[in-house]
Amino acid sequence: MMPFSYSKPVEVSQAINLAGPTTRFIAGGTNLVDLMKENVVRAEALIDINGLPLRDIEETPDGGLLIGALVSNADLAWHPLIESRYPLLSQAILAGASAQLRNMASTGGNLLQRTRCYYYYDAGTPCNKRVPGSGCPARDGLNRIHAILGASDACVATHPSDMCVALAALEAVVHVQGRAGKRRIEFADFHRLPGDAPQRDNQLADDELVTAIELPASGFARHSHYLKVRDRASYAFALVSVAAALELDGDVIRDVRLALGGVAHKPWRDKAVEQALKGRSVSHEAFTEAAEAMLRDAQPLAHNGFKIKLARRAIVRALSDAAVGGNA
Ligand code: SF4
Repeated sequence: MMPFSYSKPVEVSQAINLAGPTTRFIAGGTNLVDLMKENVVRAEALIDINGLPLRDIEETPDGGLLIGALVSNADLAWHPLIESRYPLLSQAILAGASAQLRNMASTGGNLLQRTRCYYYYDAGTPCNKRVPGSGCPARDGLNRIHAILGASDACVATHPSDMCVALAALEAVVHVQGRAGKRRIEFADFHRLPGDAPQRDNQLADDELVTAIELPASGFARHSHYLKVRDRASYAFALVSVAAALELDGDVIRDVRLALGGVAHKPWRDKAVEQALKGRSVSHEAFTEAAEAMLRDAQPLAHNGFKIKLARRAIVRALSDAAVGGNA
């Protein structure tokens, strides 16, 4: 680990005035500290944001919730308003990491965690995400956990978060603040596909800080389900995960959200697939067609072709469980 300076501002404006290309904000540190120890991330200065007033969960005038970026993953998952109105989010958070990590990890930091690609964490190998232009050994190497959708020649990594898959399905909005002011980013636009710049995971500028996550009023509380498929029962990243949410009128689908984790560089949605489900009746046939359509552009690598069949089955099961009241 290289030497770094440390500061702990108490106002958001102070924090963003200290930020730049060689600095990092730190909250729970559950990913960043590991990356710095292994020299994967080399920061000259750490800006500890734990003194900032970003720990509240407030109701918004339009019926949603505003979640401060420093609310811990554990506090968020067990918050009564999240459990009752957004059980999909609670389920997704509790599917991730371990209890100890969820106690430390922040809501804002969860959005910013880096891929778990083996090569990214090994500073002795090339990696376009770590050292742009150095190559992507995962493409022809060990790629069992890698992407089947939205990848590029430069990078086939996946986004590791469970929470973000639920936030994508719920159409959350990310509040950020930088020296140019505040802005709101739709969740679907927050994370990037790798393209030819995989070193950039999201749309944040160097001086921008995530201050809050806003949830809209609708949490699909009666009919939603988060399904995570992984190599072991806990403390493992998703091979495939599905956030499924339905609004039903009898057995007719009035609204639907479907987001996948573990398959792409960002939580994966396809609004055309969701649109095609609206107005149809709940059925195995309708859900199977949606799953086929969701995976139609999947491109497997040498070792991850199993994810296509796995994702199809997981989509059908998650939608089926949501339909019968997966969280009701
Ligand atoms: Fe690096 Fe991305 Fe290739 Fe992994 S998949 S080695 S993160 S460039």
